[in-house]
Amino acid sequence: MKIYNFAAGPAMLPEAVMKKAQAEFCAFQDSGSGIMELSHRGKYFKPVIDAAEANVRQLLNLSDDYAVLFIQGGASMQFAMIPMNLLNGGTADFVDTGVWSSKAIKEAKMFGTANVVASSKETKYDHIPCASTWNQTPGAAYLHITSNNTIAGTQYKDMPTAPAGVPLIADMSSDIMSRQFDASKFGMIYAGAQKNLGPSGMALVVMRKDLAARTDDSKVPTMLRYSTYIEEGSMFNTPPTFGIYMFKLVSDWLIEQGGIAGIEKINNAKAAKLYDFIDSSSFYSCPAAKEDRSRMNVVFRTPSDELDAKFVADAKAVGLTELKGHRLVGGCRASIYNAMPIEGIDALIDFMKKFEVANR
Ligand SMILES: *Cc1c(COP(=O)(O)O)cnc(C)c1O
Repeated sequence: MKIYNFAAGPAMLPEAVMKKAQAEFCAFQDSGSGIMELSHRGKYFKPVIDAAEANVRQLLNLSDDYAVLFIQGGASMQFAMIPMNLLNGGTADFVDTGVWSSKAIKEAKMFGTANVVASSKETKYDHIPCASTWNQTPGAAYLHITSNNTIAGTQYKDMPTAPAGVPLIADMSSDIMSRQFDASKFGMIYAGAQKNLGPSGMALVVMRKDLAARTDDSKVPTMLRYSTYIEEGSMFNTPPTFGIYMFKLVSDWLIEQGGIAGIEKINNAKAAKLYDFIDSSSFYSCPAAKEDRSRMNVVFRTPSDELDAKFVADAKAVGLTELKGHRLVGGCRASIYNAMPIEGIDALIDFMKKFEVANR
């Protein structure tokens, strides 16, 4: 049975990437060893990490002002590492658009003041607060946003702009490299890899180099300083070689798809198809505000909790897996990251139609 995996993360990887990794797992090029057995400083791995970085620079169109870093610990470690390096007792602004934003806020409070400029918590994070209402701190250390809210299923349609002199920082874990944006407007972007970039356990961090100089080296341990990663090319210690290798393959694949512009067209078509179907049905509904709906995580419901559970189970039986909503919000969720082909959307809609007929 053909499986379409709608998991929110770790999520589906492109099939071509999985096949390539499978082939190279036991024997990488002419090394006689598997990719995971080779020294991170040796002649085989160095070109892999260099190519991974070059791919990020190409895909995001980065200037030399930016560093590209591969850091262990996923996005959650960045929640702490950012304020540890950049806050230093000051005030940073946060837009609270979901569970992940609030986790970032909680960590920041350990290192300074986290000022919440706007929140949609009261309405269960069903929308993105309009930027004109944000109550921003003049001279804040940074402004932090979550570009796509994986659990609530909302997404910034347009990236906001921070006031002059305030670096804009975005957690892009669940929509990085899925749509075009102007990286030069950001001080930093970061993403846990397991949604759009590769396996879990690693974060991709893109950072304006001058920001790394803000760290107080006497207070932040070596492994937790951005400057260490910049100076050592992400190889102060043994880096997450499998994550970097897989990211290199995924980013090669993305370039073959026409880069971010190419995949964005496909992503827009996928999301439009699914939302159009849901909107045309009186059986299914979306809790997220229409104008803020995520093109990566489509959160929806059937008429009851019981039918939601039946939907998830029946879908699984026909090869449409991992459609259960996040445990905090319930319902159903189809995560349709870059690796999900349009055929997966067609199969899902086809099943949804049948389920509706059988259960309404
Ligand atoms: C998944 C996710 C995270 C957490 O990533 P980890 O790599 O598990 O730490 C953080 N932010 C967002 C928006 C996410 O979707």
